Amino acid sequence: MEECVFCKIVNGKLPADKVYEDDQVVAFWDANPVTPVHILIVPRKHIPTLNDIPEDDHILAHIGHVARKIAQDHGVADAGYRFFINVNREGGQVVYHLHAHVAAGRGFGQYLIVFAVGVAMVWRKLVRLVTGKR
Ligand code: 5GP
Ligand code: ZN
Repeated sequence: MEECVFCKIVNGKLPADKVYEDDQVVAFWDANPVTPVHILIVPRKHIPTLNDIPEDDHILAHIGHVARKIAQDHGVADAGYRFFINVNREGGQVVYHLHAHVAAGRGFGQYLIVFAVGVAMVWRKLVRLVTGKR
């Protein structure tokens, strides 16, 4: 069977910017980071989604501990970070090999929102100036 992209990274057939690995997981930088720190934690074993983890498998607890360590190593544990797993199509999952995201810092989207609010405020002021309305 054809290996998925994360199996290839786990097996060293595709390069990745690794930050941590042990006998259960590999963690590496997301190729398209949405925040200044954006790291993926991937189990070595191919499990397609969160829905497919066997009930007696404790991989999620381990991934949680690894996330905390990665956040500490990157100096974001205290300031805060997001730790999330996308599940299936409507959950935004793109790669069907279980992985958790560790994302910290302001992303481009957040700057865009601040910029849009700023533009809206200036625009309102301009309209008031031109129309003379208060
Ligand atoms: P998902 O939406 O499935 O939770 O997230 C998949 C993530 O994997 C995306 O953020 C995407 O940028 C990242 N990704 C996809 N292919 C690769 C790859 O080949 N290398 C790395 N480092 N990240 C990848
Ligand atoms: Zn895989």
